Parts: sequence; structure tokens; C-alpha cells
Amino acid sequence: MSAGWLAISGLGPGGGALVTPEVTDALAQATDVIGYIPYVARVAPRPGLTLHPSDNRVELDRATHALRLAAQGARVVVVSSGDPGVFAMAAAVFEALEAGPPAWGLLDIRVLPGITAMLAASARAGAPLGHDFCAINLSDNLKPWSLVERRIRLAAEADFAIAFYNPRSRARPDDLDRAFAVLRDACADRRPVLFARAVTTPEEVLRIVPLPDARGDMADMRTMVIVGSSRTRLIDRPGAPILYTPRSAP
Ligand code: SAH
Repeated sequence: MSAGWLAISGLGPGGGALVTPEVTDALAQATDVIGYIPYVARVAPRPGLTLHPSDNRVELDRATHALRLAAQGARVVVVSSGDPGVFAMAAAVFEALEAGPPAWGLLDIRVLPGITAMLAASARAGAPLGHDFCAINLSDNLKPWSLVERRIRLAAEADFAIAFYNPRSRARPDDLDRAFAVLRDACADRRPVLFARAVTTPEEVLRIVPLPDARGDMADMRTMVIVGSSRTRLIDRPGAPILYTPRSAP
């Protein structure tokens, strides 16, 4: 049996053209694919390939399973959407590696990057991340809400554009409204807010509203929310406007 390996891979935001050739190659050589159900569904079945779809919120179990299979000689691809290092499986695998047997430290493990949702959404709208920005995961499953709120407040104070991942879920219907309330408290202007849903898929929808009009129910769990800095602006033109942040700050 050939030596096992583990490739923690990003499938990009959804569009087939945005899967990198490196990830396509790893999938072609894999014996096992592990990941959250809708991401594994994006991998074409073939003889010799075992698909292991699992429910969300079991990242550590999934990571441990992947490490165990690779240690037994399997060629394992763990799939995430977007980039595996951005609020996804790569960190989960390394948490499991740290907690596991020392032999796992000798495994051949690679992280294969993908196009993260923030960059895909930004490209669709123009260049809202053209100056300094930060990314915040609005899910408070793994951290207290007080920390989320503090980071939003400080990001607004530093005048970053802010990309919000996981803005809303059925379990947390009010978090995005709470985030907007913190932002309106910190920023009294009409900076644009981009709601980019299911970017690069057939269900893609983009919407831009000024911060005072932004509401939580404009997003769902497939939406990326990008709040501009004080300098982010729109270029109006026929068709969709261009949203961008100039490269310089005064
Ligand atoms: N690793 C992923 C992010 C996982 S968190 C990445 O790098 O993109 C999941 C969140 O990503 C979703 O709640 C949503 O906010 C965002 N997201 C993922 N795919 C998206 C897409 N095609 N369009 C808009 N947002 C997306």
C-alpha cells in the first residue's frame, strides 16, 4: 500500500471554474473524501473513491477520522467550501493533530488553498476590500458574543472595511441585527453594506444598501456581508453600480 496522505482542500465559493487545478488533482488521486454534506456533494463519485459526508458541527470528529484514515494508508481529501484555512477544516485538523498520538505528526499533510467567499463576493461587487479590512466570523458557537461585539466596535473605530462570515442562521436569527446596531452606534454615516448571496452559483444575488437601512433579514447562512469603511463608495452607471474602497486614506 502506498503511503497515506491528507490534503485539506478548499473547493472555492461554488462555481466549478473556481476550483483550483491543484485541488482537482488531489481529488483525482484520493481514496476518501471527508466533509460537511453539501461540500462532499460537490465531489463527483467514481469507482475507488469513498465519500464520507457528515453533519455540521462535528468538525473535530471529522478531523480525527481523516487523520486516522491517512495514518492507515488512505489518500484523504478533507473538503471545505472557499478556503480551508478560513473558518473551516484546516484549523480543526491541526487541533485534532495536536491532541492525537505523536505518530500523526509524521503524516504527509498539505493545505490546498481555495478562493474564500469574501474575495469572491468582493470581486463580484467591485473592490470593497481595496484598502485595509478585517474578517469576522459572526457565529458565536466557538466564542462569546461579548468578544464578537468588542471586535466589531474596534474594527469600526480603526475604520476597517469588515467582511462578516456566518452572518445568520436559524439558531441565531438576531446576531446580524445586533452587529448592525453596534456599527450604527460607532459609525454615524451612510457607508454601503454589501449582501452577497450564493456568489458564483446560479442562486447568486447581490444587494447594496446604506448602513442605516441594513437589516439582519437581508442575509441568510449563504450570504457574505461586507460593510464598507468610511471611504467605501459606489460608482453609479447603467446596470449594477461598482462598489469600491480607494487604496489610500487621508
Ligand atoms: N471556508 C469558507 C467559509 C466557511 S464559513 C470560505 O473560505 O469561504 C461559511 C460562510 O461563508 C457562510 O455563512 C457565508 O457567510 C460564507 N459563504 C460561503 N460560500 C459563500 C458564497 N458562495 N457566497 C456568499 N457567501 C458564502
